[in-house]
Amino acid sequence: MKIAMLSIHSCPLGKVGGENTGGMSVYIRELGRELGKRGHLVDVYTRIHEPIHDQVVELGENVRLIHFKAGEEETHKLELYSHLADFTRNLENFRKENGLRYDLIHSHYWLSGLVGEQLQEWWDIPHLIGFHTLGAVKKAVGIGEGEPELRINVERKLVKDCHRIIASTEKGKEDLITYYDAAPEAISIIPCGVNLDLFRPIQREAARCHLGLNGESIIVFVGRIIPLKGIDNMLKVMAHLEGKQGIKLVVIGGDDHSQAEMQRLKNLSRTLRIDESVIFLGSVKQETLPFFYSAADLCVVPSYYESFGLVVLESLACGTPVVATKVGCAESVIRYGETGYVVPDNDPGSLADKISLLLSTPNGKPDFVHSVRASVAKYSWSNISEAILEEYRSVLKDLSTKACKGAEEFRV
Ligand code: UDP
Repeated sequence: MKIAMLSIHSCPLGKVGGENTGGMSVYIRELGRELGKRGHLVDVYTRIHEPIHDQVVELGENVRLIHFKAGEEETHKLELYSHLADFTRNLENFRKENGLRYDLIHSHYWLSGLVGEQLQEWWDIPHLIGFHTLGAVKKAVGIGEGEPELRINVERKLVKDCHRIIASTEKGKEDLITYYDAAPEAISIIPCGVNLDLFRPIQREAARCHLGLNGESIIVFVGRIIPLKGIDNMLKVMAHLEGKQGIKLVVIGGDDHSQAEMQRLKNLSRTLRIDESVIFLGSVKQETLPFFYSAADLCVVPSYYESFGLVVLESLACGTPVVATKVGCAESVIRYGETGYVVPDNDPGSLADKISLLLSTPNGKPDFVHSVRASVAKYSWSNISEAILEEYRSVLKDLSTKACKGAEEFRV
């Protein structure tokens, strides 16, 4: 199969943990590589970004990353809209010059969806979309940057026009139906995956020693530094925790674009008098994250909204329990009381109770670590990519059946 994958606003080679580069980039990188390993050809189209790469970069066996200009490096995500027509024309010229043909388009996020929709028309092939987040749901949550009506209107049109939507959770599917009137049969639920070779347990003391984090109870947060992630709430939780002097919250994520939010959080931790218990580390390469997950007593996901939350899977794959709010995959992945806890709301008291419970239970023992990791074994990228491939085949089959029926009707 030949697949055109669209990831316009965020490059899979970007610095993960920055403002615009998170789970979606990891998803595209991992999915592309798995598809490529199976002999499928994948071209991922994205915008040029810092640090500058060649226009065409090999991302893995049979997988290429192809860059075109869309605005400047500092152009805000929402302003990319006005550059999409140029981007699409450049992509089409490149395709023609190189004699490329694709079997299907898989676009990610609404901005890519718009490009995908134009290509769907020009190329007359199926178009699948993963929205990752939805404007109307973010608007309803009401935290962080306002979501423009333009985005929500575009999403509504894409939901109607594309051939299949891939949602990553049951809730994601419900949201598409509730907020966008999506047809249930047009939505398939396929969860995200985790790289089980990279995210594996490291003996806790060894991990702490490696990171120089000895002698404390450690809670780790990993993610982009944006208001939706609920780090402010987690700081309030820290103020609630008993024996907080012996607890360190390690906050991982953030780049130059996150300075204002980072400063707000630092100010809040000073106001709450917990600044000595919180370490803001900035972004950390994925290769180093297994040390942090393994060093921690638990990982916290205090978000107000997640479409999935890869961090949950990554922590569990390292054998570390998770305390999360009821967002994304948390309820379907975390086994309540066994591999962590999901709290029904963002109340700092409820989060603090569950965190205290886990901190008072010794949980770094090999049997426990092993069973926590085993609980996410089925989410290997290999399994998830197979499920996505099945989806591609099913869409192609549906369309060829429709085309045959159309031809028969024509003959009659
Ligand atoms: N991540 C990273 N380094 C960081 C912060 C985050 O590599 O400093 C990665 C993390 O491993 C995860 C992704 O960013 O794979 C975050 O994905 P998630 O789905 O949790 O959140 P999203 O970014 O989609 O909101």
